[in-house]
Amino acid sequence: MSLPPATGDLSTNVCPKCKATSEEVLNMQEKKRVGWYCLKCYYFEEAILRETVIPKVTKQPTVEAGGGE
Ligand SMILES: [Zn+2]
Repeated sequence: MSLPPATGDLSTNVCPKCKATSEEVLNMQEKKRVGWYCLKCYYFEEAILRETVIPKVTKQPTVEAGGGE
């Protein structure tokens, strides 16, 4: 549970095992953050309590109109 001090950004975390940056894992159905997954050593750190809360995302996913290529 070595989270950085309240930066408000929990989208990434530091892997407690290899100190690499781990990426958040979200449960879109429950709108919760499940935890962080390290792509280097495959360690999964579970989110607890308020860490599971996903901040309101105002940014819409970018949809490219058209589609050439
Ligand atoms: Zn790791």
